[in-house]
Amino acid sequence: MTDDTPHRRLIVAGSGIAGLSAAIYAARSNNEPLVLEGTEPGGQLTLTTDVANYPGFTEGISGPELVQNMKEQATKFGAEVKHGVITRVARDESGLFHVELKNGDAYTADAFIAASGASARTLGVPGEDDLMGYGVSTCATCDGAFFRDEDMLVVGGGDAAMEEATFLTKFADTVYVAHRREEFRAEDYWIDRVQEKVDAGDIELLTNTELLEIHGSAEAGVDHVRLARNPTGHPSERLDDPETEQFDFEVGAVFLAIGHTPNTGYLAETGVELDDEGYIVTQGGRGGNQTATAVPGLFGAGDVVDFHYQQAATAGGMGVMAALDADDYLEDLERERGKRVASAESDD
Ligand SMILES: Cc1cc2nc3c(=O)[nH]c(=O)nc-3n(C[C@H](O)[C@H](O)[C@H](O)COP(=O)(O)OP(=O)(O)OC[C@H]3O[C@@H](n4cnc5c(N)ncnc54)[C@H](O)[C@@H]3O)c2cc1C
Repeated sequence: MTDDTPHRRLIVAGSGIAGLSAAIYAARSNNEPLVLEGTEPGGQLTLTTDVANYPGFTEGISGPELVQNMKEQATKFGAEVKHGVITRVARDESGLFHVELKNGDAYTADAFIAASGASARTLGVPGEDDLMGYGVSTCATCDGAFFRDEDMLVVGGGDAAMEEATFLTKFADTVYVAHRREEFRAEDYWIDRVQEKVDAGDIELLTNTELLEIHGSAEAGVDHVRLARNPTGHPSERLDDPETEQFDFEVGAVFLAIGHTPNTGYLAETGVELDDEGYIVTQGGRGGNQTATAVPGLFGAGDVVDFHYQQAATAGGMGVMAALDADDYLEDLERERGKRVASAESDD
């Protein structure tokens, strides 16, 4: 990093709902934010065609359209949105953030909002990596239509798994949902919707069942999977148990809906506190500065912080809070700098 490294008042990591909401507010506060988009411009919401619960859209709105509107709103107010994957952020003793990108570009910044979201988790079972994109997917909305009239397997037991399974009934012959326990942890709303599909014969629930292997080829896609079932659940931990049954099961596609890992690797050198799952720890609580981390000038918003709500509207709200908190920080910083300059001048 050189002296002519471009400097910004505020850099925002991520152009999902949190990053763009932060950018709208930060731009309107004259903090001229630079938004770096990462590998998924627009974030997770670009993977869904139907956002029915974002306030203000009575007929719903597609994810890409909502994100595009926000991007236009942010740039209209003066935000700059650029492609760029951040690989490293460090804060020096003077409080300046040094931000490095994968393409070799670098910036310095006075404040930094991490709105880098979370990425879909995978299982690490044999066949998963080789067949990812060839019948194995983490996004039913994106890939479901490719497997029309085939049997499909959804892995998971939360809201995402229920939503994906319900969605996939549009295309699938039968959707099977494999969940490692007896009870699903999805909200009642989704359990009820899935139950309707079960009653209609479109979904079959495979409880106490885990995916062990995926078989197929890049040319022909997924051919079959190997599953394990144990009446007390978590069969992969009980493969030697005589009650554990292993069997092959024919499906044409596998959708993994087993949660997310927050994208925080690039923040390692800042020393920002992460919880056991890797989510950024922010101050929270009441009053101002709820999105502040213990690293001065570093704020967190959206799914990279929020392991619980993980909704577009909540991510947006946190983005707004982060922009307002960053604005307070930047104003304090400016005041401090002004005082230092004044005292240096009076010393001369
Ligand atoms: C299929 C699907 C359907 C959904 N449907 C709904 C719905 O109907 N309603 C609802 O409320 N919620 C829905 N959600 C959840 C919602 O999409 C998320 O809660 C929301 O997108 C979180 O926003 P975010 O900005 O925090 O993170 P994300 O949307 O995950 O965005 C993260 C951003 O950070 C960027 N990034 C990551 N790492 C870096 C890096 N190193 N450098 C620079 N940038 C980086 C990414 O490229 C991306 O732009 C859905 C999610 C999925 C997957």
